[in-house]
Amino acid sequence: MNRPVTDELRALDRAHHLHPFTDFKALGEEGSRIVTHAEGVYIHDSEGNRILDAMAGLWCVNLGYGREELAAAATEQLRTLPYYNNFFKTTHAPAVRLAEKLCALAPAHINRVFFTGSGSEANDTVLRMVRHYWALEGKPDKQVVIARENAYHGSTIAGMSLGGMAPMHAQGGPGVPGIVHIAQPYWFGEGRDRTPEAFGRECAAALEAKILELGEENVAAFIAEPVQGAGGAIIPPPSYWPAVKAVLAKYDILLVADEVICGFGRLGEWFGSQHYGLEPDLMPIAKGLSSGYLPIGGVLVGDRVAETLIEAGGEFFHGFTYSGHPTCAAVALKNLELLEAEGVVERVRDDLGPYLAERWASLATHPLVGEARSLGLIGALELFDAASGERFDKTLAVGGHCRDASFARGLVMRSVGDTLIISPPLVITREQIDELVSLARQALDDTLAYLQRGAPECRASGQRLSGETTS
Ligand SMILES: *Cc1c(COP(=O)(O)O)cnc(C)c1O
Repeated sequence: MNRPVTDELRALDRAHHLHPFTDFKALGEEGSRIVTHAEGVYIHDSEGNRILDAMAGLWCVNLGYGREELAAAATEQLRTLPYYNNFFKTTHAPAVRLAEKLCALAPAHINRVFFTGSGSEANDTVLRMVRHYWALEGKPDKQVVIARENAYHGSTIAGMSLGGMAPMHAQGGPGVPGIVHIAQPYWFGEGRDRTPEAFGRECAAALEAKILELGEENVAAFIAEPVQGAGGAIIPPPSYWPAVKAVLAKYDILLVADEVICGFGRLGEWFGSQHYGLEPDLMPIAKGLSSGYLPIGGVLVGDRVAETLIEAGGEFFHGFTYSGHPTCAAVALKNLELLEAEGVVERVRDDLGPYLAERWASLATHPLVGEARSLGLIGALELFDAASGERFDKTLAVGGHCRDASFARGLVMRSVGDTLIISPPLVITREQIDELVSLARQALDDTLAYLQRGAPECRASGQRLSGETTS
């Protein structure tokens, strides 16, 4: 794209476009990068840069960019039936076929799906559905949902209320009542003075303590991401999920596993719940469901909840204009068929995940890196001051600097405070993983040089960033 067009788009963007999760003023001063096209794991910008997209867009382009089959599925559906709703006793093949496919891939006790347009809408649906379920069960007091600090469940009022992002809670007035948050199993950030094993059990014990404090008779559900994504690719200690499962088994409380990121192969299984052996009652999904090609989400509903909702009779007063949108559903179905036919999920589990784990761990020897962790194709680097073993002063924005350095080197990583995260397309090759790791190392070197230049005074704050959450 030529310079005048780039300049024009950048000026118009500044004049008219309010970006999500963005400091409008700062972006106005800096100007946006204009992404023009993409193929495989690479995006291209208007200035001619080719950039390895180690975030798969926003954790969603699982099948990579430029898949003709998905474009063809959309075109064909747009020509036959671009839109129709499922409200008034109607349905259509794409929604039905996608529902069947999802239930075939999901754990055996899940046989129904409620479609939405996004992950946030899926979690709004979850909140209404679990409360309605308990009312139908004759236990209308079971209303409280237990969620976790630093969780991400979306940006609608219900999504942000379920989420545990303090900066989001601080804006836009009170959230939805009846949602409480407990500690997250973030060992590097909050538990480093214990063993991971002990810390994982401690976080699970916090769930039991909260249930006892609230009274089991008042608690509807516990919601959690199998691996926290936006919070910083937080992989819980191995002791965490088994202990949480044991707590939930003791009390009559629904488990909601938010699979919006972990679903569709990210952890090397179709769903993150399968990696951890969870048997969730509800699984909100979105993102990788369509590899991000078109917006679609949903809630996979286990038999226990579905049977009550169905048997009770009476209308569930909930749904969206785009619930089960035929074009989005057709693309999602084709996406799942391709993931399956190409053995993508198994390759993540057996080959690419272990390969990334080995290569990514090699970054742990870098002087800025306190921990390099990964599972399947999600990973994080925890930056710290090796001299003191402490986090850097927040005001140095070391993570943000490293993210910018990474972009400049041709690699999209994302920063959450001083945690750098990756979640590449699942079709990445071993060679591209080598390239990713090499670019990440260069970005770390650039960041180290920046700190050594001492441009901003570099001191470790000595204080943990527990609970800090930025997008
Ligand atoms: C992105 C995300 C959501 C919200 O999905 P949207 O499609 O952005 O509304 C919900 N839960 C998790 C775990 C997510 O990562």
